Amino acid sequence: MIELPSPNHAARQSAVDVLVLHYTEMALDDSLKALRDDRRPNRVSSHYVLAEDGTVYRLVPEDRVAWHAGRSCWRGHEALNGTSIGIEIVNLHGDRHDYPDVQIAALIGLCRDIIGRHPAIEPRNVVGHSDIAPKRKVDPGLRFPWAKLAASGIGLWPRAGAQPIEGDVQLALQRFGYPPAVDVTTDDIIASFQRRFRPARADGIADAETRALLADLLDQVGHEA
Ligand SMILES: [Zn+2]
Repeated sequence: MIELPSPNHAARQSAVDVLVLHYTEMALDDSLKALRDDRRPNRVSSHYVLAEDGTVYRLVPEDRVAWHAGRSCWRGHEALNGTSIGIEIVNLHGDRHDYPDVQIAALIGLCRDIIGRHPAIEPRNVVGHSDIAPKRKVDPGLRFPWAKLAASGIGLWPRAGAQPIEGDVQLALQRFGYPPAVDVTTDDIIASFQRRFRPARADGIADAETRALLADLLDQVGHEA
């Protein structure tokens, strides 16, 4: 762990219960610069930056708010910077570039430590930026190995073979955590769900497979589908 403090942070008013994963869209050096720059008009930061070789940089202490999520919503709560930890994973575009194994191994260790310190981060509250800001954000991208993380106890992954949910898919998505269709459409939110849980086809169409995956996830978190 390399300490590289950022000036971009604020006091925490609420306990941490969400972990947000991002990709940087920039190389390591540029990322570390941007996330520690206090002169740009929209100051940004994150608690951690994870290099491609697995090196972890700590920029903001976990008991301070970092500015990584922006306009966001999960499980009915908005402006998630206040209640979350943010990890920026170095990758230029997670739809096109694989995450190296050594980077993901380090990420799993880092997430485990964070969740150990904040037990309110239950598995469904480990999210991608794209989950909490549909359409506006696509990180950590289609190639991010969510299934591998879930197999290590970080976040959820749906089992195949569930009965597809019927009825209002928007409400079912919201029951799991996704935002309401305000400023974005239900299709945008379906696409966001698919980016995360069915990356082979993220077309915004709630087909039977999408509905079955959502049904299983709701089952995992104890909701009637
Ligand atoms: Zn992001």
